[in-house]
Amino acid sequence: MRLVAEDIRVRYPRTTHDVLDGASFVIKRGHSAAILGPSGSGKSTLLSVLGGLVRPDGGTVRVDLGTEGAEGATVALRDVTAWVLQTMNVLPERSALDNVVVAALTQHGDRHRAREEAERRLESVGLADRAHDAARVLSGGELQRVVIARALASGRPFVLADEPTGQLDHSTSAIVLEALLRSSGDAGVVIVTHDSEVAARCEVTFRIEDGRVLPA
Ligand code: ADP
Repeated sequence: MRLVAEDIRVRYPRTTHDVLDGASFVIKRGHSAAILGPSGSGKSTLLSVLGGLVRPDGGTVRVDLGTEGAEGATVALRDVTAWVLQTMNVLPERSALDNVVVAALTQHGDRHRAREEAERRLESVGLADRAHDAARVLSGGELQRVVIARALASGRPFVLADEPTGQLDHSTSAIVLEALLRSSGDAGVVIVTHDSEVAARCEVTFRIEDGRVLPA
């Protein structure tokens, strides 16, 4: 399964230039890619296009199901993508586990299975021992790992991470990034960042320049 964006053009209302202008990008399930670029270059916009939140003014974005889909089947971008943002709505009074169960329930309607999935995901990001702590008592790095566990627990095949370590110090950033890349399993991970060290941990790195995606 692949997420494929071809020749994307985006211009926001009341602006005079295209933020994306002929941008093409592919991410395959099970792989990781970083998109680098200075602030304002269009990184978040590209991620929003991939996640189906911004409809491009030109070009196409589609899910290529490959061998994983029945012939002729189509799926919505929003149904195959999960988000990791810098500031995510974690329910502060609920436990880390409850926060992840909510996402797991979207995949497994069954509460018992959803709970098992959430426990497994929290363990995979190294937070098994904090599962029953309220989210409000967790550190920034721990909270971000809850957000990652939550994205992965949704079972969606692509994770879109917008500056996932942007508000963290250097060593915490490394832990969070490791949790994201190691525990993502067969999901495809796209990380948008201005930090070349973060990008270097991904399998491939691109940069956005003049509205296009180029090899970094
Ligand atoms: P990056 O993620 O690289 O910082 P963005 O994709 O957030 O870049 O933004 C690219 C450009 O588009 C910026 O100049 C930003 O101000 C502009 N922009 C982003 N979102 C909107 C919007 N909803 N309306 C108008 N302009 C926007």
